[in-house]
Amino acid sequence: MKTYRIALLPGDGIGPEVVAEGVKVLSAAAATLDGVSFDLEEFAAGAEEFQRSGDPFPETTFEACRACDAILLGAMGLPHVRGPRGTEIAPQLDLRERLDLYAGLRPIHLFHPTHTPLKGYEAGGIDLLLVRENTEGAFWSREQKVDFAADVVDDQIHISRRATERVCRAAFHEASRRQSITRRGKVTLVDKSNVLPSMAFFRRVFDEVAAEFPAIETERVYVDAAALYLVRQPERFDVIVTENLFGDILSDLAAGLVGGMGMAPSGDIGESHAVFQPSHGSAPDIAGQGIANPVATILSVAMMLEWLGNETRPAAVLVRGAVERVLQSGENRTRDLGGELSSRQMGDLIVAEIGAEIGT
Ligand code: ATP
Repeated sequence: MKTYRIALLPGDGIGPEVVAEGVKVLSAAAATLDGVSFDLEEFAAGAEEFQRSGDPFPETTFEACRACDAILLGAMGLPHVRGPRGTEIAPQLDLRERLDLYAGLRPIHLFHPTHTPLKGYEAGGIDLLLVRENTEGAFWSREQKVDFAADVVDDQIHISRRATERVCRAAFHEASRRQSITRRGKVTLVDKSNVLPSMAFFRRVFDEVAAEFPAIETERVYVDAAALYLVRQPERFDVIVTENLFGDILSDLAAGLVGGMGMAPSGDIGESHAVFQPSHGSAPDIAGQGIANPVATILSVAMMLEWLGNETRPAAVLVRGAVERVLQSGENRTRDLGGELSSRQMGDLIVAEIGAEIGT
């Protein structure tokens, strides 16, 4: 029996609510696998933990996460809880940096035509993968000390050859993998190389990596135009690779095309570790009401099952298929999608669909 150890970091706001549904679905899907079990261990981290103990991410928690096979995270940070630099508490960023989770994979898929504010798109008509560089870029100086009495504060955009090469390679590998399914095989570089020298360097490295993948089509788009094209012609994109801050902003925009933050899963992937979490934050405006959409978290669970390996991959297919079938009915909608379902009801429907698929 192979046991996968999963660290659960539910975090703040709606984090615990959506992780509870993710765990329910994980358990239902895991029960269908032969010779595989999951050992889930929950840890406290985030803004509430910071308020409680003064330490948002205890070292023992980090070490425990590092020892696990994968990490499932809810959301961290609350707008009114700020650290000494005036920024929000964000242990999820520490995890990315300390475990070197350099590729932020954010799949965007339209499951039902009513989920998109755009006209004329069928289910599957919007389907792209945003690959965000996770370790540097404009987030580079986030730990710098700030003198609030100063007249000027500078942040630095840091682009290294090493980080750019590996994130671009990850994007091309994803495009090759998707090519076998969608037959497209295209990577779009999104940058600002018309203005910023660091971005001209990013593009140069992208071009070098692109030459290693002659079967994959490429295009290069400035970030401002990319924002326009995402809204006007999202079908133009297959895989997008971009810098950290651009990826942060564009992934929220892209999520908005398929129903909002509750529909956007993510995986932050390194060489040997990975964190899976919904792309959304702690959503304090709806926390505690049981109405958050758990689909992004449940799809993140599917990404985790896919990433863990061949033995768990059938469960990933099962979860994704169940989400797809549940959302096929326009009735099955949480509040953010214009429906009435609670987080728990949506989770239950997906669990029931898994049961129906395997005939229990
Ligand atoms: P962060 O910067 O930490 O990613 P944010 O400030 O971008 O967070 P979110 O917490 O992601 O903000 O919330 C943005 C909006 O999306 C809010 O109106 C919130 O209620 C909504 N939202 C986020 N997640 C969900 C969800 N799972 N279900 C329904 N609505 C959500």
